[in-house]
Amino acid sequence: MTVHAPIIRRPSRRVMVGAVAVGGGAPVVVQSMTNTDTADVEATVRQVAELWRAGSEVVRLTVNTLEAARAVPVIRERLEALGCPVPLVGDFHFNGHKLLSAVPECAQALAKLRINPGNVGRGARRDEQFATLIEFACRYDKPVRIGVNWGSLDQDLLARMMDDNHQRAKPLEPEEVMRHALIASALESAARAEELGLPGDRIILSCKLSGVQDLIRVYRDLAARCDYPLHLGLTEAGLGSKGIVASTAALAVLLQEGIGDTIRVSLTPQPGEPRTLEVQVAQEILQTLGLRSFTPMVTACPGCGRTTSTVFQELAQKIQTWLRTQMPAWRERYPGVETMNVAVMGCVVNGPGESRHANVGISLPGTGEVPVAPVYVDGEKTVTLKGEAIAEEFQAIVEDYVRRKYGKGEA
Ligand code: SF4
Repeated sequence: MTVHAPIIRRPSRRVMVGAVAVGGGAPVVVQSMTNTDTADVEATVRQVAELWRAGSEVVRLTVNTLEAARAVPVIRERLEALGCPVPLVGDFHFNGHKLLSAVPECAQALAKLRINPGNVGRGARRDEQFATLIEFACRYDKPVRIGVNWGSLDQDLLARMMDDNHQRAKPLEPEEVMRHALIASALESAARAEELGLPGDRIILSCKLSGVQDLIRVYRDLAARCDYPLHLGLTEAGLGSKGIVASTAALAVLLQEGIGDTIRVSLTPQPGEPRTLEVQVAQEILQTLGLRSFTPMVTACPGCGRTTSTVFQELAQKIQTWLRTQMPAWRERYPGVETMNVAVMGCVVNGPGESRHANVGISLPGTGEVPVAPVYVDGEKTVTLKGEAIAEEFQAIVEDYVRRKYGKGEA
């Protein structure tokens, strides 16, 4: 097994996606993708706005039919009217050249085009159709993400690389050839786009796979071989905790090495789960790695035999939800509040210590302890709460702290 020495990637070039900077040392950007029918303007506008309000800084939507292409400028207008400036990215496969030729206003309304080199066409038509897409990007000054995916890898390129591999004295394993082919597809397509006139500072690359170790290997190689900004994501991450854990495992390793300028967490929503969960997970990955701050974090202990009631779990949940729902209003009003840490602990074993390290912390009474809850503010014990209204009183203390510490002159 190969052991990869950690690398710290040099800053990539900077690409502007609408008003959002990607790469060149800019903070790692959070992206998401809609799952509505793009031709359904109402539903798509609603979901894009939800994703944006949840913190998605760029939103991608599929452009798969003429109706979808015609809907894009209308969606853009409707979002502007709602005061939602989020840049939109159009995802094109198979027929993108035809759609943009028929509806050029679609390209104009988008902030970026995503092109999958494996799904542009085969043989000579591939080159022609790829060139058409790049021409639209050049005509409207749009950046392009060349997004390779192992599920739709360019089969002509793969066949050529497999043939070359068979000629080698020591052929590589087919999986390794496939990884090389993903990178070659991205880099060759980027070089072709530049030959066609697209400036290098309008190109972003991605090479997505669904295996964590494969993704890490591919992105390390890709990062070492180019200075284009990289869009990072584990494709088809899956459902629920598996999708979250797999995405986090892959992205955390790469981000820690300075690889990745924008991320998307490709979760499959479970029935009834909001689409915005992928935005929340992406933000939490970046925040727990210490790369960005989005929302005050709650530190809570897991509970154990010393906590026989669910009071502290409920309080931790309530405070976390409350903090998250306040953020749209707080972001402007209380700059810096997103870095705040609140501790909610189950008993006195670790409670006071953890509370002292937080901005505001509470240590609830464990089994057999005196039914009081000491509260710490900036490391100092300030008050001891007791009775039925501990949750409400603690929330009021946090709110007061936010106003005093982050309010611009508010008392
Ligand atoms: S802080 Fe107390 S309740 Fe929480 S896990 Fe530790 S010992 Fe258990």
